[in-house]
Amino acid sequence: SLPVLAVIGRPNVGKSTLVNRILGRREAVVQDVPGVTRDRVRYTAEWAGRPFVLVDTGGWEHDARGLHARVAEQAEIAVELADAVMFVVDAAVGATDTDERVVRILRKSGKPVLLVANKVDDARGEADAAALWNLGLGEPFATSALHGRGSGDLLDAALAIL
Ligand code: GDP
Ligand code: MG
Repeated sequence: SLPVLAVIGRPNVGKSTLVNRILGRREAVVQDVPGVTRDRVRYTAEWAGRPFVLVDTGGWEHDARGLHARVAEQAEIAVELADAVMFVVDAAVGATDTDERVVRILRKSGKPVLLVANKVDDARGEADAAALWNLGLGEPFATSALHGRGSGDLLDAALAIL
């Protein structure tokens, strides 16, 4: 069966936009309203001739248990079902407490993780991306899911760990 790559992160960081970028088409639902993605949506993707399953995650909106609990739950499920994870952070916002919590879950899982510093739309954002080295997940891959910046390098790195 195909290797599975899960895309996780807080609401509105650009996960579904990144999934669309990787798919090369508009399928994953992107909205300005956070939490619009259903909990998990699977797509078949391909890069450099290699097919893999790409899982968009969502459903991280606030509910009675709060954002932290939902994020932790989604991260744990995604890590369980995936062979590798793309953890997307909004580089312009920087790492939040919720992001730090996800990092702990990812670390414990032992699964290979790529740290995606998204919303780096131009060279000025590179410093924001570099600040995410602090999360301790290795090199942050600066991307603009919206414009395509950095997505080729990110996918090359993903295939190397899948
Ligand atoms: P998700 O909730 O993590 O799936 O986030 P979405 O993909 O739905 O994107 C949330 C918002 O961020 C949308 O308005 C996107 O157009 C915007 N967005 C996503 N990626 C980028 C990016 O690289 N740069 C900028 N400027 N906006 C982005
Ligand atoms: Mg989404």
